[in-house]
Amino acid sequence: MTTDKSPLHEAGGPCYRAVMLVGPPGVGKGTQGKMLAQIPGIFHVSSGDMFRELDINSKCGQIFQEYASIGKLVPDHITVKIWQDYMAAKVREQAYAPERDLLILDGIPRNIAQASLIAPYVKVFKVIYMVCADREVMFKRIRGRSLKENRIDDSEEVVVRYRWDVYKRETEPLIDHYPQDLIRLIDADTIAADVLQQILSAIVPIQKKHFMAPLM
Ligand code: ADP
Repeated sequence: MTTDKSPLHEAGGPCYRAVMLVGPPGVGKGTQGKMLAQIPGIFHVSSGDMFRELDINSKCGQIFQEYASIGKLVPDHITVKIWQDYMAAKVREQAYAPERDLLILDGIPRNIAQASLIAPYVKVFKVIYMVCADREVMFKRIRGRSLKENRIDDSEEVVVRYRWDVYKRETEPLIDHYPQDLIRLIDADTIAADVLQQILSAIVPIQKKHFMAPLM
């Protein structure tokens, strides 16, 4: 992923200026994402929500079900294609204005291959790395969520633990993939408001510097 000017941007392609949220399942990304999405000038994209919005009878919807139900990642090219179409639709619908809004990418990229595939479109300002020392706390949160949200991938203990392994193997290496000055460590083992405060302290300066219209 580019940290300088994106090549496609220079060639006139889309350039999404973004902050990424990275963290294991159950760390609280979804809770934070929902709060961040309420802030004017922020556009939050959760890949999990993006997939869950697909028509379950469509080809992509079926592929998602097939992989998510066993805790596997949807294949990279399909994921990135769905994401590209989703982003283009949000720009068309004027829900997201790349020159006005800071994009929060939550759940994508999920591995280094995806990071490379989306790199031409994305300029990464920060990688918000949410950590929670006690993984049993996260498993407990997921079990609670499965009861409330009817998620196919949360109900089975074995699937939840498998997703944890996938995270460790595929997603966590992203932290070493990006320049270390972009990484902001967030202690997620605390109350939601505290986590939000830590995230805001990382992203508000970016919004002010890059997205604030000059005062007339
Ligand atoms: P969690 O953060 O709890 O793991 P998500 O809602 O982000 O859950 O994702 C749910 C499922 O959707 C994943 O287990 C995976 O099957 C699929 N998925 C989400 N994002 C991606 C992605 N970037 N690449 C591949 N599969 C993904």
